[in-house]
This record gives sequence, C-alpha cells and structure tokens, in this order.
Amino acid sequence: MRYDENNIFAKILRGEIPCKKIYEDEFILSFHDINPQKKIHALVIPKGKYIDLDDFTNKASKDEIVGLLKGISNVAEKLGVSINKGKGYRTLANINEHGGQEVPHLHFHIFGGEKVGRMVE
Ligand code: AMP
Repeated sequence: MRYDENNIFAKILRGEIPCKKIYEDEFILSFHDINPQKKIHALVIPKGKYIDLDDFTNKASKDEIVGLLKGISNVAEKLGVSINKGKGYRTLANINEHGGQEVPHLHFHIFGGEKVGRMVE
C-alpha cells in the first residue's frame, strides 16, 4: 500500500487544514481529536510519511522512533495526565482494517482526564 498524500493528517501537517495544536517538535505533531471520546483525547503523529505502526517500525530511523515515543510522553505531561502530573492515561494505535484505522497516517491516541474503561469491546 502506498502512502496517501491527501489523507487528512497529511493536510494538517502541510498546514492546509487547521488543528488545535498541543505540541510540535522535529519529529511529531500533536493536536486534539476533532471528535473526542474522553475528556482528554489527543492525537500524536510522526512528521514522516508512515501509514501505520508496521510501516513506521520497518522504515523509520532510530531518531524518529525515539522521537515519537518521547513525544507521546511529552504530550501526556503537557496534558497533565502523565503519572508525575496526573492519574495516567491510555495510548493506542489502530492498525489497518481489523484495528479500525480510519486515517492512513500513523497516529497514537491519548485518552485521559477520567477513567478510560475497558481495554477492548
Ligand atoms: P483512527 O480510527 O485510529 O484512524 O482515528 C482517526 C481519528 O482522527 C478519529 O478519532 C477522528 O475523530 C480523528 N480526526 C479525523 N479528522 C480529524 C481532524 N481534522 N482533526 C482532528 N482529529 C481528526
């Protein structure tokens, strides 16, 4: 599968569509989900063109991989849900059809601000 340059997160990264930005650095962009499922629902995306987690782990550099993981922790801290600032959170990435992935640019969800509930339905 080829990366779709016109997916919504690619447009956000190019600045063609606005987002409610939380944090940005060399490796990642984070913004609030447009349709929040919990009190806090943020997204963390790598700046590189990766379709999903498998694509990312196969092709990304070590710096990009570290940058994404550290980015998730940084965003959780900024949102006040990290264990040093708050009461914890859930992060997850949906992958392809069975994972329920809708946007074909790798993204981690961060849910928090309240108990998140059952892990899967
Ligand atoms: P997934 O099902 O894991 O691909 O999740 C895609 C997420 O992107 C959903 O939670 C959507 O609400 C969210 N989403 C879609 N479009 C936007 C947008 N323009 N800005 C922020 N979040 C979005």
